[in-house]
Amino acid sequence: MEKITYKLDKTEVVIHSGYKTIGGNIVEVKYPDGSLIFDIGLNIGLHNQYFTWPTKPHKGIDELVSLDIAPRVDGLYTRWLDEGRTPDIEYGVDTHINGVFISHLHLDHYGLITQLNRNIPIYMGETSRYIMEVKIRQARNYRYNNYKDLQIDKTFRNKSHIVIDDIRITPYHVDHSIPGAYSFKIETLDGVIIYTGDYRLHGQEESLTMDFIEELEGEDIELYITEGTRVHDVEYTTEMEVREKLKHFMEMEESNLIIEFSPLDIDRFLSILSAAYETGRSIYMDEKYFIYLSNYYIYDSKLRKKLDKYGYTDICRGLVDIDRLRDRKRRELIEEISSYIDYIDPSESGDIDIILGIDRGLDMCKAGKLKRDKIAIFSNSEPFNEEGEIDFKKTINWLTKFNIPSYRVHASGHISPIELKDIVNRLKPRDIIVIHSEYPELIKNMLGYE
Ligand SMILES: [Zn+2]
Repeated sequence: MEKITYKLDKTEVVIHSGYKTIGGNIVEVKYPDGSLIFDIGLNIGLHNQYFTWPTKPHKGIDELVSLDIAPRVDGLYTRWLDEGRTPDIEYGVDTHINGVFISHLHLDHYGLITQLNRNIPIYMGETSRYIMEVKIRQARNYRYNNYKDLQIDKTFRNKSHIVIDDIRITPYHVDHSIPGAYSFKIETLDGVIIYTGDYRLHGQEESLTMDFIEELEGEDIELYITEGTRVHDVEYTTEMEVREKLKHFMEMEESNLIIEFSPLDIDRFLSILSAAYETGRSIYMDEKYFIYLSNYYIYDSKLRKKLDKYGYTDICRGLVDIDRLRDRKRRELIEEISSYIDYIDPSESGDIDIILGIDRGLDMCKAGKLKRDKIAIFSNSEPFNEEGEIDFKKTINWLTKFNIPSYRVHASGHISPIELKDIVNRLKPRDIIVIHSEYPELIKNMLGYE
């Protein structure tokens, strides 16, 4: 794990994790009286070299640090008591860290939150807060990895101002593959620092990122800390193009479509939903899609309007085998959702049209429930590690068994090199740090910085 330190006059920026690697961002901004942390991400690739969640779990932050999966950061973490059942709320009361800001709820940006020192307040966007709530409500009280006593009541919105000691933080809503993603303007004693988190310019909400760039134009930016996930073999597809391709598949009426994508990616779901709406098709959602997409519907009035526009509660149904669901919390959550949108038992379903969730789709094939020609669509990124590849191969074997061809229809959640170049040309920061990237130097040089 490579740590880098960047000194301004009274301010120091430390990239504890996330440099020269994709994932696990932890950025510290130190000022004379304390410091702030931006993202507390888990490096999933490193974690998965030793552990499998939840069957082979880790034993808390000390173990993660000793294996170099998480960086050593003074004052950042908790200590576990009672064999990992309880975080020690007395531990680290005197920490110099006065806040942790979460850019968005992808694991590589918040995954170490359960290990956080319970004396540090956490700031996140309102959307992230309710996604978090859904996660907490489904979580069991695992040892060494639970949400007990975390201070997660502080939320912000687009362009809120948060002042902590000498630092003023302004979050800007940006477009990414999960709703409620933010970049931060951090005004320090030594000028403005930008931390972008993950962002893109080619999604459905293009205007969000553009708005952020326009707001910053003309600002004197000392340091621009940007993601640089995509460098090589970049598939340059926009979300609108994804939507058109999906619509094309949906126009083939005599087919069952089985679609896999991230259940948190509301932009992708809107592409799927609007295409289904326009082609007169109906959607059956596996449990995890039913839970997360419906929670967007219930808790976010802006998203609800968009979902209503394409008949979410009319053309979509959950596929939930409620009698086999042993998890009480999950069952409660599903019952709550069902007062907004219905679900049906998969074994009692009649003619199923489009299915969200490849595993559920395959189960329905095994049960002989899908009667038409079948097409599978992977609408997510390709597997990026060995484990993912093994799982993918298994899926392909089952698809082969049922004579189902598969396609990939996807647009990335990350900025592409030419988009980044355009942004930097407009903002002209004094210096740049590229994180969340395997090629930080290549990008920096490409952008014209030494
Ligand atoms: Zn992300």
